[in-house]
Amino acid sequence: MTRRQWAIGVDFGGTNIKCGLVDRRGRVASSLVLSTAEVSRPAAFVAGIHRAVEQLAASTGLAPTRLAGVGIGVPGLVDAQHGIVHMLVNVPGWREVPLASRLRARLHRPVFIDNDVNLVTLGEWCYGAGRGARILVGLTLGTGVGGGLVLDGSLYRGVSGAAGELGHMVLDPHGPRCACGARGCLEAHVGAAAVVRMARQAHVAHHGRLTPERLAGLARRGDRAARAVWQQVGCLLGRGLAGVINLLNPDRIVVGGGVANAWPLFATTLQRTIHAEAMPVPARAVRVVRAQLGEQAGIIGAAVLVWGQTSGRWKVEGGK
Ligand SMILES: [Zn+2]
Repeated sequence: MTRRQWAIGVDFGGTNIKCGLVDRRGRVASSLVLSTAEVSRPAAFVAGIHRAVEQLAASTGLAPTRLAGVGIGVPGLVDAQHGIVHMLVNVPGWREVPLASRLRARLHRPVFIDNDVNLVTLGEWCYGAGRGARILVGLTLGTGVGGGLVLDGSLYRGVSGAAGELGHMVLDPHGPRCACGARGCLEAHVGAAAVVRMARQAHVAHHGRLTPERLAGLARRGDRAARAVWQQVGCLLGRGLAGVINLLNPDRIVVGGGVANAWPLFATTLQRTIHAEAMPVPARAVRVVRAQLGEQAGIIGAAVLVWGQTSGRWKVEGGK
């Protein structure tokens, strides 16, 4: 039997759906992007992924039988064990959708699904900045703030598949309102919208629409107010991570996502806050580093999920 060394990873985002053919070394051989708006409903999504899989296989001359399977990271709450999407955060029409079985019936290949940030963390653990970590915490900083946990070589999902939601730890119950409805979550302090809000409050002078990228540009050019905002981000993020470090005693924390492109502007304050606020023993044991896989992390992690599930090499625990 031919060794099935290829997997297709799908990263279901709010704007784009990225699909890639990934080899066993974590390299993306071929990729394509679908517009989420065009295939946002479950039936259209299944048809769109079917076409994408055929296109990717054809573009590399790969026989579909050599495909180990398809992995999909979705932005929402998932029952990974049964392949069911409970709900998606920003895409309507997804309630209790048996996505894995629908796609499997169409593709005749194994299909696995999981939360997108869980898969980003799995990708970084296998091929990126989390390699070799025993207790790994993954954090993505973007419009949303997400988290994933790989504990002793297994993705940790909790009893309902909802573990690792680091973005919704409350830092300040009187803080700004969060998209989840609570107040003062980590996401409401260091998500993209929060960073822009802090910049406005600090009266950072700018032209055009203020974004985290522009704020980072200003800070790099020496704007004092902009630099102070990034230090505030480092401080708030460090405070959130200090609690995680006390709870899990991890050896590595990987920080990714669009806002993390400003890493050099907040890393020092982040590390300083961790050492000031976490317990000394776990604070000394952890290395907080920037993610390495960038935009492809979700695709690569989804492929890792496929290999883990089909080879048994990486166990996936949790679920109902
Ligand atoms: Zn929240």
